[in-house]
Amino acid sequence: MIPAPFRHVRVDTVEAAIAALIEHGDEAKLLAGGHSLLPIMKLRLATPGVLVDLGGVPSLSTIRMDGEELVIGAGTRHRDVHQSPIVTSAAPLLAYASSLVGDPQVRNRGTIGGSIVHADPAADLPCAMLALDARFVLQSSTGLRSIGVDEFFLGFWTTAMDVNEVMVEIRIPRQETGWSYQKFTTRSQDWATVAVAVAGGRISLASMAETPVRAGAAEAELAQGKGPVAAGALADAGTRPPEDLRASSDYRRNLAQVLTERALVEAATRR
Ligand SMILES: Cc1cc2nc3c(=O)[nH]c(=O)nc-3n(C[C@H](O)[C@H](O)[C@H](O)COP(=O)(O)OP(=O)(O)OC[C@H]3O[C@@H](n4cnc5c(N)ncnc54)[C@H](O)[C@@H]3O)c2cc1C
Repeated sequence: MIPAPFRHVRVDTVEAAIAALIEHGDEAKLLAGGHSLLPIMKLRLATPGVLVDLGGVPSLSTIRMDGEELVIGAGTRHRDVHQSPIVTSAAPLLAYASSLVGDPQVRNRGTIGGSIVHADPAADLPCAMLALDARFVLQSSTGLRSIGVDEFFLGFWTTAMDVNEVMVEIRIPRQETGWSYQKFTTRSQDWATVAVAVAGGRISLASMAETPVRAGAAEAELAQGKGPVAAGALADAGTRPPEDLRASSDYRRNLAQVLTERALVEAATRR
């Protein structure tokens, strides 16, 4: 469990991080909280020769409103997202989901951007992003571009980002509708066996496919005025839940239905 040798490069601006990515090419990897990347390096599933450390870039850890949009710097730690009054007011689903990520050590180091870019289908925040209809702002040597969450997650640990891009901001429309986040784990402080996020008419699922996914059939049922029972019964339609040590595929399908119904009932009681 010892990673291959690597160089540690500290930067204090996003521009310096991009320059380091370009200079070191395939060798380089960005480092945020290290709570996903370092375990992978210890397993030698990744062997970057250069880690470009974003921890010293102050502009990446800010939380503010821009009109009706919540803007969170990609380097903001889970704990700060959870405890922010701005996030609690504008996107309570995200504040709550952030409080369920791992344990206090993980929440004190891990970042929202690191979690989204890592794109683990069992993770809490990618699932929350889908329900919240987030947009991600990416910076490269050619400038900024923004990409919607529905186009971002392409496969297991795979996103639509280019290798020399840095995620700088997460933008979320102010949440005006009822919400719920239901996470089922077999141990406390674990990744979700299945999780369901509901914000208004959007329903998303964790651990039900190679990426976080929308529960499209359940959303359509809701849009036709059907209730939580009818919508929940369709939550797993079109999904490909994995079979692993935590749960069988059929068990996950059942969980998705039960948790979606529960989430819709709860969301109906909240603003
Ligand atoms: C014991 C343990 C328990 C955990 N439990 C949970 C859990 O219950 N739920 C959950 O959702 N997660 C869990 N996690 C994962 C945790 O949330 C991580 O913090 C998160 O997945 C990665 O964030 P990070 O800041 O640590 O990123 P890092 O590990 O530093 O980076 C992850 C990836 O993102 C890239 N990256 C990071 N920042 C940027 C950026 N700004 N722009 C472009 N690329 C970037 C890196 O190059 C790397 O590929 C757990 C982790 C541990 C170790």
